[in-house]
Amino acid sequence: MDIIEKLAEIFKEFPGIGERQAKRFVYFLMSRTPAYNENLSGLILDLKKEVAQCGECFRFFILNNKKEKLCDICSNVNADSSTLLVVEKDSDLESVKKSRMYHGKYFILGGLVPIVEKTTKSRIRIEELKQKISGSKEPNKLSEIILAFSLSPQGDHTDQYVREQIKDVSEKQTVKISSLGRGLSTGTELEYSDNDTLKNALKNRQ
Ligand SMILES: [Zn+2]
Repeated sequence: MDIIEKLAEIFKEFPGIGERQAKRFVYFLMSRTPAYNENLSGLILDLKKEVAQCGECFRFFILNNKKEKLCDICSNVNADSSTLLVVEKDSDLESVKKSRMYHGKYFILGGLVPIVEKTTKSRIRIEELKQKISGSKEPNKLSEIILAFSLSPQGDHTDQYVREQIKDVSEKQTVKISSLGRGLSTGTELEYSDNDTLKNALKNRQ
């Protein structure tokens, strides 16, 4: 494999990027100055040094000093600890946060459950979610979990899977499980939803 192919293989792993786009990225980089590419590779290296993963919700956040273990939402004492919004990925959390329609806590599942796959457990944080529910207690006791996945067959499948997995522990802890309402139209990615859509989906959760 030559360098063009090697790099294209890497870009192909990026979300939403196909073979042709991956190649276009490589050609784009070839046309840039050495300084441009140096800056880019430096930023990629620094990314891992300057961000950390939150120990509570698992989102990535920028480290202000090297010691923080929790992100700004999880460490915020004013955030409503009674609700937990479960999303697939960081960008979903960001769009809900930006909408200012929700003031509770979050949990990043880390993926959706593929319909055909049998060994899903290792890829999403279902055990961590169960632990979070079973470990919740006064004064920060959870009362509701809101599942907020994309309205796609895979999103629906994940919704069902998570409901089933957390059913027992939620009952034991008297935590209600709800899902985002159908304000989101089918196929809509949470991260691309506008404020009104999100507001309705939250209001109509069931
Ligand atoms: Zn957090």
